[in-house]
Amino acid sequence: MNVVFRGLAIAALVTFGLAAAQPPPSAQNASALHARAPRRLVIKNAMVIYGNAKPPYGPVDIVVQDGVISYIGTTSDVPSGGRATADATIDASGKYVMPGIVNAHMHWHEERQPGVAQPVQYERNLYLAAGVTTAREVGGDFDKSKRWQAESNAHTIVSPRILVYPFVSKGRSGSPAEIRAWIRDIKQRGADGLKIIGMDRDQLEAIMDEAHKLGMRTATHIAVEETTAKDYAELGVTSIEHFYGVADAALNGIQTFPPDMSYSNEIHRFGRAGELYAQADPERLHTMIDLMVEKHVAWDPTFSIYEASRDLQRAQGQPWFREYLHPSLEEYFKGSLDNHGSYFFGWTSTQEAKWKQQYRIWMNAVREFANKGGLVTTGDDAGYIYSMYGFGISRELELHEEAGFQPLEVIEHATWNGAKLLGLDDRIGKVREGFIADLLIVNGNPLENLKLLNPYGADVMLLNGRPAPNYSPLAAGDKVQAGRGGGIEWTIKDGIPYHVPTLMREVKEMVSRARALRVHTTAGQ
Ligand SMILES: [Zn+2]
Repeated sequence: MNVVFRGLAIAALVTFGLAAAQPPPSAQNASALHARAPRRLVIKNAMVIYGNAKPPYGPVDIVVQDGVISYIGTTSDVPSGGRATADATIDASGKYVMPGIVNAHMHWHEERQPGVAQPVQYERNLYLAAGVTTAREVGGDFDKSKRWQAESNAHTIVSPRILVYPFVSKGRSGSPAEIRAWIRDIKQRGADGLKIIGMDRDQLEAIMDEAHKLGMRTATHIAVEETTAKDYAELGVTSIEHFYGVADAALNGIQTFPPDMSYSNEIHRFGRAGELYAQADPERLHTMIDLMVEKHVAWDPTFSIYEASRDLQRAQGQPWFREYLHPSLEEYFKGSLDNHGSYFFGWTSTQEAKWKQQYRIWMNAVREFANKGGLVTTGDDAGYIYSMYGFGISRELELHEEAGFQPLEVIEHATWNGAKLLGLDDRIGKVREGFIADLLIVNGNPLENLKLLNPYGADVMLLNGRPAPNYSPLAAGDKVQAGRGGGIEWTIKDGIPYHVPTLMREVKEMVSRARALRVHTTAGQ
């Protein structure tokens, strides 16, 4: 009883948003639309952020017919009966509509701490709540992900659309011939692309040659290897993930490590990784960026996943942990030499300072890459290093702004650029007639504050009880209060609306149940 009441209260709070002039949709209306496929959906009075960084426009009505955007225009022009024949209507007055987000770097997890199950629906809900309608999985359980992909496409599960890029296996021998055979086999089994990590030059040549023959796209996490971004660019990789490999290609020689460096010790690995960009030769870094642009290599920096390294306290104290952090993930985040990315033991101010410097150089490099014509995309790689699914991609967008991009460009990275990266730019990534209806209806204007896209909502200023920009002129007697608002109200995938407050209420319930179970289990020991 209490849980239901609190769920409704949150729904009302989030809906309150910057659209307070409109009464929030009743819970009944929301549940009638949630996760059901209407034949004809009309979104009324929407301000549109198109996706390719052109300025917003509107208000307009958007008609979605059988999952495809069939009409965008003024209300009076809505074709063939308009709202009279719509079997679902969403009023977007005071709200902004933008394309669904492409999360170009993610992994599906069913548990984090061994033995503590974490329902995959937890992750699906969080990603949809953060506006992710398309997820590129770069490494995971191939057979499960293929099954979930089919179920997502058939709408029998509530999930973003999935593209599956399995890790390239070196097989038993690591020989180029064996790797080629593995790639041909995985392509037959339905791989959408390949994720490459840790290859020597001869192995990489075989992978790239085979991928090109089969028309497969490739993503790489380069690490500290014989190969650097230079090899990957020359051989035609589709995207470079993270920061590794790019600065490595700009070193005079190799990175300076102390003699006791061990790459299998993650304290060493992630501590020293924060010293990489400061050691790069700036001139050689410019040249490397030029090569990436020339070879049409995309850069998916995943800024958000390393953020704990530059500010551990911020990462550990994220307010949504209180109600939305699953105990399996919570256990995983704790310092452990066994869990990838849980390397915080005695993390020092010097390590944080070095990582901050690393971010400055790295962000400038990504900015230079984009200015020169390179394709920048967004991915969160969440489920590690205190980054929660969904919240990670929201934070990723904020960090693109920190890197010097305008919010309109950041949204382009997250939508249209993502579609281009995946080769889906003939059907998603823009609010365009004829495109698949992957749309977000945002409470407020995300160009004013990207934090409005966070599933937890954002701080807003209330001026005389109404949300207002915090630069609004104030007069004597005005009442100014701090409030909460924002959030995405609806994430629409393939024309099916998902009500974000409902998704988040379900997440909270999953977490409550798992925590209760943990208490009972512990009590019984
Ligand atoms: Zn990853």
